[in-house]
Amino acid sequence: MSYEKVVCGTVITPEGPISGGWIAIDGETIRAIGTGKPPQASQVHDFGQSWIVPGGIDAQTHAGSYLGLPGLEPASRAAVCGGITTMIEMPFDNPIPLSTMELFHAKVQAVKDLSYCDVALYGTCAPQQDTAEMYNLAKAGVCAFKISVCESHPVRFPRIPADQQLAMLQACAELGLPLGIHNEDQEIVRSHTQRMRATGQESLQVHSESRPEAAELAATALFLELAAGAGAQAHIVHISTPRGFELLESYRKGGHQATGEICVHYLIFDATDDGERLGALIKVNPPIRSGTREALWEKIRSDNVQCISSDHSTMSLQNKLGGSIFDAGPGVPGIESLMPAFFTGAEAHDMDAAAAVARFMAEKPARLFGLWPKKGAIAVGSDADLAVLQPGRFVYDSSKAHDGVNWSPFDGQTFTAKVVSTFVRGNHVWNGAEVIGRKDFGQFVPRQHGPS
Ligand SMILES: [Zn+2]
Repeated sequence: MSYEKVVCGTVITPEGPISGGWIAIDGETIRAIGTGKPPQASQVHDFGQSWIVPGGIDAQTHAGSYLGLPGLEPASRAAVCGGITTMIEMPFDNPIPLSTMELFHAKVQAVKDLSYCDVALYGTCAPQQDTAEMYNLAKAGVCAFKISVCESHPVRFPRIPADQQLAMLQACAELGLPLGIHNEDQEIVRSHTQRMRATGQESLQVHSESRPEAAELAATALFLELAAGAGAQAHIVHISTPRGFELLESYRKGGHQATGEICVHYLIFDATDDGERLGALIKVNPPIRSGTREALWEKIRSDNVQCISSDHSTMSLQNKLGGSIFDAGPGVPGIESLMPAFFTGAEAHDMDAAAAVARFMAEKPARLFGLWPKKGAIAVGSDADLAVLQPGRFVYDSSKAHDGVNWSPFDGQTFTAKVVSTFVRGNHVWNGAEVIGRKDFGQFVPRQHGPS
């Protein structure tokens, strides 16, 4: 038996690690997995002791949110350099969020033309739009829907009120799709921001206090109750506080579908410890808080977290600096640093870091977005999406990043693993030094089935 390609290393499968393992690939698919002497192949990639993990699924990217659809190109290029083989792309595109079939087709075409990696798509509804188009979008393969309940722009990031949240949740329940939410109560955020701004203080902690935990938790709780009533799956896309996960857990115990996601920056940064050094560079919403990191790692350890994401934004440094912390753009680039940052943190918290990457950055997001087992696993029959992590000590240098913005709050951080190769559907796209994939290779990945 001879294969097109064999990739050797410590292979992280859903059943556990295989040291001295190999993966045999024909075309775009994994055909066999084993240990010991690898089978014959036209091409052999031997990565020695390095870990071969399933290609990362970044559960939250904003490639189109600032640059419009052309943003898919730099974001997906950075993705493959960071071991990400599938982006789950948010619907809040500039200038109009993905809420119609016409916009859906335009984005699918942009993925085909511009993306180095595969892309699954969130859809949304505009304020007051009825739910009819959600059925068409679901049929066409969007993996989930997403809304915000706190307006940061009337068209691009509008607020969806509770009655419309409920209607969308009822549609999602029928469709078997999750509804994701940006979870901050608008009135609390607005009044607190006004109050903190009036004090004239400027710091990351002040931004954090302007969007208190109560704003996040109140929006989360209301949404969970609406979803429970509708029988829908609530997915909270960024939880910055352990209590958020406790709310979800109590709903799950009550038989409801409730999942939550952490962006990696909530696990790495702390408003008190890093606020002065990073300031607006690490301004995100909900904010980086003080003293919550360790408790969030505990939620990962106890498997109460569905996935880890970057919330990657293609925002330029000019949007961040020069003005008040309250006027600085919220968001960070992070798709290229996501996997090494999470790996490093997991290792520092005595977890099996390669297994944690495979679980929280591949298997669990693949299940949530209906891509499993085509995506998210090193398994026979799955797409040959692979990332190779080499152990060592590597200082992250954003000037060498591939995201087109070249700044990062992770700049200068030491990571304990580096992505030295990435394969998307069997195609070697990143070799640790340069991008060898093509921007017309990425495909739109439709949702395969309901939640599993
Ligand atoms: Zn986001």
